[in-house]
Amino acid sequence: MTPSAYVGRFAPSPTGPLHAGSLVAALASWLDARAHGGRWLVRVEDIDTPRCPPGMGEEILRQLLACGLVPDDSPQWQSARHLLYAKALAQLQAGGWAYACGCTRRDMEAALVAQGHVHERHGERPYPGTCRDGLHGKAARSWRFHTVRYQQSLVETAASAEQISAAIPFFIAHQQLHWHDRLLGDLHQDVAATVGDFLVQRADGLWAYQLAVVVDDAEQGITDVVRGADLADNTPRQMLLQHALGLPAPRYMHTPLVLQADGEKLSKQYGAPSIATGNEAQALAALQQAGRFLGLESHVGQGIGQTLEHWIPQWAARHAEQPAPQPVPQDGSR
Ligand code: GLU
Repeated sequence: MTPSAYVGRFAPSPTGPLHAGSLVAALASWLDARAHGGRWLVRVEDIDTPRCPPGMGEEILRQLLACGLVPDDSPQWQSARHLLYAKALAQLQAGGWAYACGCTRRDMEAALVAQGHVHERHGERPYPGTCRDGLHGKAARSWRFHTVRYQQSLVETAASAEQISAAIPFFIAHQQLHWHDRLLGDLHQDVAATVGDFLVQRADGLWAYQLAVVVDDAEQGITDVVRGADLADNTPRQMLLQHALGLPAPRYMHTPLVLQADGEKLSKQYGAPSIATGNEAQALAALQQAGRFLGLESHVGQGIGQTLEHWIPQWAARHAEQPAPQPVPQDGSR
């Protein structure tokens, strides 16, 4: 990849204002783009409209600008991109990789208990697969991706033995999908066993994050995703969808999470305070705090622009070098 081919992005969900944690993700993705001589885009992920207070997307954009993080193109809004997601779902349906699901939460609980999944927390249990072979007389509520079938088909086809490449940056061995994260290293997950057939369209008609993010990253030509580590385990789901939709996969880097004093991650859900960007001094202080968290040094007396410029070579020295793709031995092991 030539450095100029790099396209990065920051993709906030406007459920609340920018907080110390999301500013770290924004700054890391901006720095990585700049360090690669690339472009940096912002996408407002306002797909879950009921959870997005009016005006919050605009507020986040204002906060980014106040911190000197200026996108290279007009921000995209997911709420304006329904047709793209509908097309992707139609493609999955046509390929036989999406199925209608009629399960309510209660149906799923009952099926999971019947399968012996009693002790795990909700959300960590895979979909029980009830509607995989038909609705059994229930009305269709949502659409799911055939993870189990797709992962199995990859095991049975050449993809399982294929080398990691720009086109297919993962391989499957021993039921695990293996991929590389630029910061976290080599990771693996049995997507079928961990999450199972995940939603691509929800019962309330809203598009699932996994589908929208994959469609948008490809449509915007994103080559590098840099985001918080809380999203790292979504990556293999996204890679499966990219593969099923014939879309290119970006490279991934997941940055450490900013934690609260009690060890919980900072999140809008738990009311993380907004960063203050009311004047330049406040915005600079917020930026410097994010920079410090990422191990970057700033100098007293520098303004926002100078501080950001000063950090680019520091980031480049640490992160611009890309490890060569790892070939996979023929027996599928490493
Ligand atoms: N919109 C997601 C969030 O704010 C991030 C999506 C992504 O970076 O892939 O958690």
